[in-house]
Amino acid sequence: MDFNDTPEEAAYRAKAREWLAANAPKRGGRVESDLDDPASMDGSRAWQRKKAEAGYAAITWPKEWGGGGGAPWQSVIFGQEEAAFDTPGNPFAIGLGMCVPTVMTVGNQADKERFVRPAVRGDEIWCQLFSEPSGGSDVAAARTRAVRDGDDWVINGQKVWTSGAHYSDFGLLLARTDPDVPKHKGLTMFWIDMKAPGVEVRPIHQMSGASNFNEVYFTDLRISDAQRVGEVGAGWATSLVTLMNERLAIGGGGGASHRQVLKLAQEISTLTGLAAKDNGLREKIADWFVQAEGLKYTRYRTLTALSRGQTPGPESSIGKVVSAALMQDMAATALDLEDQFGIISDPKNAPLSGAFQMALMAAPGLRIAGGTDEILRNIIAERVLGLPQDVRLDKNIPFKDIPTGR
Ligand SMILES: Cc1cc2nc3c(=O)[nH]c(=O)nc-3n(C[C@H](O)[C@H](O)[C@H](O)COP(=O)(O)OP(=O)(O)OC[C@H]3O[C@@H](n4cnc5c(N)ncnc54)[C@H](O)[C@@H]3O)c2cc1C
Repeated sequence: MDFNDTPEEAAYRAKAREWLAANAPKRGGRVESDLDDPASMDGSRAWQRKKAEAGYAAITWPKEWGGGGGAPWQSVIFGQEEAAFDTPGNPFAIGLGMCVPTVMTVGNQADKERFVRPAVRGDEIWCQLFSEPSGGSDVAAARTRAVRDGDDWVINGQKVWTSGAHYSDFGLLLARTDPDVPKHKGLTMFWIDMKAPGVEVRPIHQMSGASNFNEVYFTDLRISDAQRVGEVGAGWATSLVTLMNERLAIGGGGGASHRQVLKLAQEISTLTGLAAKDNGLREKIADWFVQAEGLKYTRYRTLTALSRGQTPGPESSIGKVVSAALMQDMAATALDLEDQFGIISDPKNAPLSGAFQMALMAAPGLRIAGGTDEILRNIIAERVLGLPQDVRLDKNIPFKDIPTGR
């Protein structure tokens, strides 16, 4: 592991920082949930287009597809630098981080030509239609049915927790095309038009007041076989392409930091004196500092692997397990410190613009999205530590024979 930028990396960082300082717009105090607000969405699209024109929107993608033609380490460095600016919300992350890379890897030439450039420019937004009421961690348990009808497929079923479905143009859909074979073998991937008849999006109301994700229902949705992404029955392998990209995209962590808790503690007096003098709190802050440093160096390990042209391994799962729990713990302590002001979530009135209020409400979701704590621990146990595999009793029996409890 090398902690220092090479001269090439330092030069790229300086160039990116200079460009960001000259071009990055201000989010203007808005929060991610404001993506439902057209003005906020316009700001996000404009920022994405500006980055695309400068080659910073999809840094590692080929220039012929609208990308920057750069290396993965450049993408990491640009991300680190961009994080220091309060730029608009990013509704493109799922499309560019997961769905469109899947189309680029597995899809046909016509789909690549149709979809990649508009996604990079922020003109079209994608969502990921994998999780269902009966299959979240177990993605291969998907029950949404796609039945062949001539050159078409007819889709019926339900997805859930679909982030951004309400403002998405397209969705990447995992569906069951053959219930007579074991669950991993009877799946096929498709892209769908989210505005087509037969697609109904119902927003889920969250405790933060936002509705970032949705239930999506399909009723006799008719799509062409040309909308298939990959071979019939190869949906599990195709979904792994998406999920590997997802784990890398979510693994970074971020959000409220222990330095902000320290700042609060230095300003707030408790019954026994300044909060920062409290030994229990000091111990907690020291512990968070150690965890944050561990995460930083784990990310350096990823950066070093990318710089050497290697693919980061399953150890990147550690990032989300640690950072999501850390965020939850810090936010709960910070709200205790804020006392009666802790219940104010309006960014205009809450301390630190409500950063910890938002963090407390987002943290449980972060511990679930893109692989729950338990699933990521299973991955670390099996693939990093080499421990015995989880018990998988339904792996080799026809999907239709798996008991449903009904
Ligand atoms: C903020 C957010 C955004 C999301 N966005 C999307 C999206 O855009 N598209 C999409 O398709 N999905 C999305 N999801 C869904 C997400 O992928 C699932 O919620 C997640 O995979 C867990 O699935 P589940 O909710 O069905 O829980 P379940 O799989 O039912 O799990 C329930 C509990 O059982 C545990 N468990 C399950 N299996 C095992 C096991 N083998 N060993 C040990 N413990 C186990 C889990 O850890 C969990 O605690 C999102 C979720 C969140 C919170």
